[in-house]
Amino acid sequence: MKLALRINSVIYVFFFFSLATIAQTIPANKYGLKVVDSFDTYEQLVAKNSNKQLVDLEEFIPGIKIDIKYATPDNFTGKVLYPKAKAFVRLPVAKALLKIQQALKEKGLELKIFDGYRPYDITVFMWGATELKKYVANPKEGSRHNRGCAVDLTIIDSKTGEELEMPTLYDDFTQKANHNYNKLSKTALKNRELLKSLMTKNGFSIMQAEWWHYDFKGWKNYELMNISFDDLIKNKPD
Ligand SMILES: [Zn+2]
Repeated sequence: MKLALRINSVIYVFFFFSLATIAQTIPANKYGLKVVDSFDTYEQLVAKNSNKQLVDLEEFIPGIKIDIKYATPDNFTGKVLYPKAKAFVRLPVAKALLKIQQALKEKGLELKIFDGYRPYDITVFMWGATELKKYVANPKEGSRHNRGCAVDLTIIDSKTGEELEMPTLYDDFTQKANHNYNKLSKTALKNRELLKSLMTKNGFSIMQAEWWHYDFKGWKNYELMNISFDDLIKNKPD
């Protein structure tokens, strides 16, 4: 028993020591933020905590619709920001979205994903690309998208694939996108509420200014990341 305890403490000490070692290998950027930009460091973090893996939503939730505007010029910057249309999120985020997808399917509805994980460098670019700073994350703090813990999404009709009526289109940087804006049709109010109730029931919280954006609880426990989509695709586990 005593020996077992001693072995346990050795394991704990080793565990904390190796975590500390990883933390040291994450360099601080010019804002003093630690951003993971080496794939090796990312893999070490995942080895310590499998919840940190960034999973491909199209694989985790077969058939899920994605419409990644940042992989096209059809976004507020007018530029293609992602090399591929991909939606990655951390494992617990994917699990929660799977539950929401299942609940929607019972109603003949489904999710459509506009964005998930976003590399930190893209957040830096977005910050410089607009004056509407309320709608983009400050690189001094980074975005919850950079942590793989935020998702932009809406609801579609399973049969037609059409988006349900919502207060605005995606990335509409106006007051109408705010959760407290209520001069809307009954249908838009009802649909915004449906998305909100399913998301908040499954561990997400709203972002006041954007009806389409949700943060996953515990996002602070996940590092800011600057791993490229290409690296995530290339190094995908079999
Ligand atoms: Zn967002």
